[in-house]
Amino acid sequence: MQIKKIFQFDTNYCVGCHACVVACAIENKTDLPINWREVNTFNQFHYPELAVFHYSLACNHCDDAPCMHNCPALAYTRDLLSGAVVHNENHCIGCKYCTWACPYDAPKFNQSKGIVEKCTFCVSRTSEGLKPACANLCPTGALDYVEEQNGQRITENVGFDNFDIGPSINIISLRNENAKPEIIPEVNKSTRIIKEISPESKITFKKEWPLVIFTLSMAYLVAEFFASVFFDFPINSYVFISVNILAGFFSLFHLGKKNSAYRAFFNVKNSWLSREIISFSLFFIATASHFFIFQHVIFTYIALLSGVFLLISIDKVYRIVIQPTPFELHSAHVVLTGFLITSLFFNNYLMFLLVASLKAGLYIYRKYYFWKAGLNFRLFISGWRLDMLISFPFIFWFFDFSNLNFWILASVLIGEIIDRAEYYEELDVITPEKQIESDFKRLKN
Ligand code: SF4
Ligand code: SF4
Repeated sequence: MQIKKIFQFDTNYCVGCHACVVACAIENKTDLPINWREVNTFNQFHYPELAVFHYSLACNHCDDAPCMHNCPALAYTRDLLSGAVVHNENHCIGCKYCTWACPYDAPKFNQSKGIVEKCTFCVSRTSEGLKPACANLCPTGALDYVEEQNGQRITENVGFDNFDIGPSINIISLRNENAKPEIIPEVNKSTRIIKEISPESKITFKKEWPLVIFTLSMAYLVAEFFASVFFDFPINSYVFISVNILAGFFSLFHLGKKNSAYRAFFNVKNSWLSREIISFSLFFIATASHFFIFQHVIFTYIALLSGVFLLISIDKVYRIVIQPTPFELHSAHVVLTGFLITSLFFNNYLMFLLVASLKAGLYIYRKYYFWKAGLNFRLFISGWRLDMLISFPFIFWFFDFSNLNFWILASVLIGEIIDRAEYYEELDVITPEKQIESDFKRLKN
């Protein structure tokens, strides 16, 4: 039986010289400034009570690799001989979903190529009995490529988590003599100045605004279609289909390789992103058929079902990243937005009140959680968001505005945009740098 080989990293020996990073860049001819391998330092500003050590990490070729599981284009495969998780550049559509799914920040998006790239485990070298270039050049022997001993690896340490995905790495933690503080801390804590960094999140509203437009447009269109079927709500079919096309067009903004977008259908078995795209396409085709071509009831049912599944899929796509709160349901859920808008199209103010109250409660909980955790919390924006959801609709109703539903809908939609935009700002993706920062803060306090 072939013995599996894995990376081994000894935190006692790494001096942070970056030779492994350079070796990887030369071997793979990566485009600067992209580095498939990175060295991160625990306690980089030498806080005196904690040890300083480094991690050299690239792809860990995990046994249960979330990149492979979630990639909608089936761009990842496993090399059966070496166990490497191999990324096929020709199949990648540059959706960057794997960069959200991987907790080790291994897939790197190459803007000039419009795709991601990552460590290959140097399959071309290892198949000839050589070590990967990084392990080969490491001058201290801290990074190595070794046979796995009895299927056992140590994959957890301060600053490194295995996330239950079986990273192919054995981490040797600091021995006691190396784990001692560098300086005996005989200083007054209040006089210490420790510069701390907060690595930027990969997901921000600024980067993902096309997705905000797409997700909210779809909630609106699904709600409107339901209203037209069950409530004879008048729809301008040309406007409806145009908004549908525009929303799909905006979602394409997100892709690095737009002409390979069809590959996003391929991983329907595992990836919620594939499911989202398939249900979007079905919804579009079925509604277009319903309005313009066959007008058969079968298309109406397909449109209704695919619309609901689309909203569920959109929410599921975001489950792989760190959520703002531990509670799964949140106020920016697209399914809830769909319910809220539907209640207005149905003229059902009781349903509106129920869904709006639920959303307001969830929103207040989220902001309260942020406030308790000492995280960024913008009272002014939150006030506006709640006004748009509750206060303004109530005022419009109380003063009996003519064209009441239009005003309430406008207010609700602005509120939903604020909520969704804030949600994107609050999402985060774990990376080795963030893991180190989080463990450092935990131990420092
Ligand atoms: S380290 Fe990241 S990219 Fe590599 S196999 Fe694991 S999840 Fe995938
Ligand atoms: S298609 Fe998307 S998820 Fe798959 S490898 Fe490319 S960027 Fe990553």
